[in-house]
Amino acid sequence: MATTSSAAVSHVGRIRSNNQDSAYAGSHLFLVADGMGGHAGGDVASAIVAQRVAEADQTYSSPHDAEFALQSALIAANSLLAETVFEHSELTGMGTTASGIVLVGGQIVVAHIGDSRIYRLRGGTLEQITADHTFVQRLVDSGRITPEEAAVHPRRSVLMRVLGDVDAAPEIDTKVLDTRPGDRWLLCSDGLSSYVSDERIAAALQSTTSAQAAADRLVKDSLDHGAPDNVTVIVVDIGDSDDPAPQHLFVGSAAAPLSFEGESARRPIRLPTLLLHPLKASQPEDAHFEPEREGYLEELIQEDRRRAMRRRITWLVVVVLAIAVIVTTVVVGYQWTQSRYYVGVDHGRVAVFRGVQQNIGPIHLSSVYQTTTIEVADLPAFYRESVRNTLGADDLRDALAIVDRLSNQAGDQQ
Ligand code: CA
Repeated sequence: MATTSSAAVSHVGRIRSNNQDSAYAGSHLFLVADGMGGHAGGDVASAIVAQRVAEADQTYSSPHDAEFALQSALIAANSLLAETVFEHSELTGMGTTASGIVLVGGQIVVAHIGDSRIYRLRGGTLEQITADHTFVQRLVDSGRITPEEAAVHPRRSVLMRVLGDVDAAPEIDTKVLDTRPGDRWLLCSDGLSSYVSDERIAAALQSTTSAQAAADRLVKDSLDHGAPDNVTVIVVDIGDSDDPAPQHLFVGSAAAPLSFEGESARRPIRLPTLLLHPLKASQPEDAHFEPEREGYLEELIQEDRRRAMRRRITWLVVVVLAIAVIVTTVVVGYQWTQSRYYVGVDHGRVAVFRGVQQNIGPIHLSSVYQTTTIEVADLPAFYRESVRNTLGADDLRDALAIVDRLSNQAGDQQ
């Protein structure tokens, strides 16, 4: 009988100097938190939330109880952040995402705020369980941009909901889903999901056996993509035993003791890392929280419209240029054909044609330039055949010289 097993890995990434992600992998409860704000705030915020919510890791008699407990723990953690900021004003503006699950028998309670993600892999199909609380997701939901556009949108890091010192009653999404032995759950920060595609995530989850191997592989995938952000991954494999092994694991900033006073001064700066990754040197815009103020979504939509307009204008210019090139080519090509001559037959007589014999569809690229009095029938058989097959000339003079020769042949024949 397989027991439920899990693994949690957090990596600072290749560019950031500190890890602002935290995660907790317990016996029944798993949580990822991605902190943001200030020089020292993000790691403190995510660590506080991970440690506070971990207190809710216990056996619950019903999903409803677990849902209530998880949500209460998140609200309590939110209050703790506000209190911490009250005591340490240098942490003002800190916040964190939080995405967690609690296992209750054959069911999973999900609680989520921010843009960390929870996925379920079942029977080879990866399903994203949570919706990002980002402005770009709002734009996607309202049909204004596609998910592909959202993935590269310049405002993709702007969050609409987080835990922090701003909102005393943050809106947390919760739901209860069924789960069964063989399901593989993934909790991750956007350091994974923003840089590794869902297809690659699914492939990594399917091609690995143990939860630890899967978590390691996902972090490696993010590092292979430059890992501009901190990356944190929890993989939970649902077994058929209701009694999971006791576990109490923190990773990321929650793994270290909380210390925030003067922390930014002590932190080493890792500049050389930037130089090693010149192509990835552009750090992603720091995730930040914008409370949903009046008109902000509308501003973003206007910004998007202007961007779309610029795109349309660019396309228009490209199309006009392409047409200009095609027209020029046709005109120059036609003029070239009209500098060519050949000798052929027109109404039974030898004639000089201007242009080339080839036709483009219904368009004739040649016309009679001059019809002579030489009857083709008067020519010796060989010349008759040649003229019918047409005789190419270098220019008009050459064409007239050919006519002269044919004229002589016609005379000889008579
Ligand atoms: Ca992040």
